[in-house]
Amino acid sequence: MRKFLVKENLSYLGYLMSDTFFTFLPKIEYIMKEYITQTSKQKLQGELCENEPLAPYTTWRVGGPAKHLYKPASIEDLSFFLSVIPSSENVVFLGAGSNMLVCDEGFSGTVIITNHLLKNVSQCDENKIYVEAGITLLELAYFGAGLNLCGLDRIAGIPGTIGGALAMNAGAYSSETWDFVDEVKVINRAGEIIVRKPSDYKIGYRSVNVADGEWFVACVFNLTPGNKETYLEAIKQMLAKRASKHPLEFSNAGSVFRNPPGDYSARLIEASHLKGFRIGGASVSTKHVNFIVNDKNATAADIEALIKHVVAVIQQDHGIRLLREVRILTKEGIRIDHGE
Ligand SMILES: Cc1cc2nc3c(=O)[nH]c(=O)nc-3n(C[C@H](O)[C@H](O)[C@H](O)COP(=O)(O)OP(=O)(O)OC[C@H]3O[C@@H](n4cnc5c(N)ncnc54)[C@H](O)[C@@H]3O)c2cc1C
Repeated sequence: MRKFLVKENLSYLGYLMSDTFFTFLPKIEYIMKEYITQTSKQKLQGELCENEPLAPYTTWRVGGPAKHLYKPASIEDLSFFLSVIPSSENVVFLGAGSNMLVCDEGFSGTVIITNHLLKNVSQCDENKIYVEAGITLLELAYFGAGLNLCGLDRIAGIPGTIGGALAMNAGAYSSETWDFVDEVKVINRAGEIIVRKPSDYKIGYRSVNVADGEWFVACVFNLTPGNKETYLEAIKQMLAKRASKHPLEFSNAGSVFRNPPGDYSARLIEASHLKGFRIGGASVSTKHVNFIVNDKNATAADIEALIKHVVAVIQQDHGIRLLREVRILTKEGIRIDHGE
């Protein structure tokens, strides 16, 4: 693992990436050389890591490294970064990694992390809050409470970032992220910023048709005026309720499967006696059967094998094909389960 702090001074970095250096280390990737050649003209402020293990960036705590990982200092910095890396470079975004299974082989492109990096939040109109993608739903809810702007209590306990919540249309107790969206700011692969409205998207249960090569960098939330104390109490109650139902003592990624129409994945899994079923270091939680927990140093392969096993058993027992809610990051990119 190598880390470069791309802050004020690029001279050392310039040396590392010079032709002389490359002569001695011919295996260093072309992309890094290209990246530095271009950035020497302008300054980047974020942190670029090479061969960075991704497990610590996910809540399942499994998975291999990303070839490159970038921690942007701001939206402008991210914009510049995207504009200077080669257009052939495969890019994926990661928020809190609370809905992502990273394969043991890792990812062969660049991961951009937003969690607690894109973190500006401000009131932008009477009932509206501007929030960047790396803030968590809970942080947004608490910020709103300070302004007596309410409404997020049912989803505040979902442990993801705004970017991840928008990408997933994260929701709980009949409340979903996009219920509150006034507009979003997206960034494309060239680093250009575009403002979009909810009407630009097809939004469904845990799904949003985000265009390939576009990611959320900020959002304006429309909230409801209310009483701060009542709202904070509602959030507290909701957090307690979730903690009592979820196996938070083990690494997990929340519900693994989406509910099929008119039914519950948990009911089907329980009916098939899969509670506690184990493959390697991963098991179906005994506390919430739609969760798979990493309770004995699981590998990503253990978790993926267990997911496949559950899908096969439910198909056989109930004739229903469960769709994964969690996404899988392979060497080539993100796999979303569309049921094909
Ligand atoms: C204990 C626990 C409880 C959970 N409970 C719930 C629940 O009640 N309801 C629910 O819906 N989910 C739940 N989840 C799942 C998860 O928290 C949500 O899906 C959350 O919205 C994911 O956000 P994230 O930032 O962690 O996204 P990540 O896991 O980092 O990424 C998820 C997807 O979003 C994409 N993405 C991330 N950031 C961006 C961005 N800025 N722009 C575009 N795409 C982006 C990623 O590429 C990936 O495809 C739970 C998870 C855990 C661990």
